[in-house]
Amino acid sequence: MSAALAPVGPLPDRVVRDPVLLAFADQVGGQDAGPVAVQGGRTQWNLGGTADPAARLIRAPSGVVAFEPAEMTVQVRAGTTLDELDAVLAPAGQRVALQGLPAEATVGGVLSVGLSGPMRLGHGPIRDTLLQARYVSAEGLLVTAGGPTVKNVTGFDLCRVLVGSYGTLGLLAEVTLRTRPRPQASVWLAGRADPADLFDRLYRPVSMLWNGAEVWLYLEGYPDDVAAQAALAESAGLSLVPGPPRFPAGRRSVPPATLRHVRLDPAHQGHFVAEMGVGVVHGEWPGASPAAADTAVVALNRQIKQLFDPYGRLNPGRDPMSVPTTRTGQP
Ligand SMILES: Cc1cc2nc3c(=O)[nH]c(=O)nc-3n(C[C@H](O)[C@H](O)[C@H](O)COP(=O)(O)OP(=O)(O)OC[C@H]3O[C@@H](n4cnc5c(N)ncnc54)[C@H](O)[C@@H]3O)c2cc1C
Repeated sequence: MSAALAPVGPLPDRVVRDPVLLAFADQVGGQDAGPVAVQGGRTQWNLGGTADPAARLIRAPSGVVAFEPAEMTVQVRAGTTLDELDAVLAPAGQRVALQGLPAEATVGGVLSVGLSGPMRLGHGPIRDTLLQARYVSAEGLLVTAGGPTVKNVTGFDLCRVLVGSYGTLGLLAEVTLRTRPRPQASVWLAGRADPADLFDRLYRPVSMLWNGAEVWLYLEGYPDDVAAQAALAESAGLSLVPGPPRFPAGRRSVPPATLRHVRLDPAHQGHFVAEMGVGVVHGEWPGASPAAADTAVVALNRQIKQLFDPYGRLNPGRDPMSVPTTRTGQP
């Protein structure tokens, strides 16, 4: 299997000459420069394992490089906070699908952690937001992955490997993100209702969460459309609330259809929050053994790490596999 995969290096036509990015690559240094880790806003600093204290801490450069409202893309340095990015996009009525996060969270940190958040049903997984990444490899080289336009992928899609890798495969320097229209209206509602029935009656809800008893619904779009959908939800027993529930610790993935057909013992209500239509379950999913990573996936991850960073110098102490999401069957 390993013979089919070769170490990844920059293509000749993708050499980066931006002095800011080159200075960042210099900070990372070559393969003999020892362990190194990038810190963003430190809002999820301990997720994925404790950082090795021997690692040199550096920060990615910050700032918005180019915003193309007509193309709906933005090129931004990885150390930029989401608030700074939003301030540039908002006047054009756009934003990126990275909402509801702490003000100090950075673009690089959010992508490296790779959690999609409760809007995944409507906004898609966070990896779909990333079009192009410029990262520093374990050899200290600037590498470009993906392309700056929406239809860009040929060959290996390295951007998808980088999202959720906790900085263990490459240190993000700059990325190009897909932007989205800013909704003119949005609303959260909650109440006791049958989630499958409500799901079928609504037109493309952006988020629907369920804890076995109560449903939370997020709608966004044009004011008339949101009002019409909200009225439908209210007729099913929901009413306006300020926001979503807090997610309990622990996360696993089940086939989305499981959530439609499951019959729960009332004792399990409130011990989990499930993302309807997505299949991610936060907390304790009844009947499932504790989440454990699939051994084949773990082996593949080790192999990828070995190819990207044979020296073990990028973000040592972090292991994406220690934050497992497993697929499970019916409870
Ligand atoms: C819509 C949405 C909702 C979310 N909701 C939740 C939630 O409810 N609960 C939750 O726990 N999380 C959630 N997340 C994830 C969370 O927001 C991010 O993980 C967090 O804000 C990380 O940002 P940070 O800059 O603080 O990273 P840090 O805490 O500084 O770093 C996190 C990790 O990323 C690495 N890293 C940072 N910058 C870089 C870089 N440039 N290159 C490589 N690696 C880097 C660090 O070394 C570290 O391992 C959500 C994310 C999204 C998009």
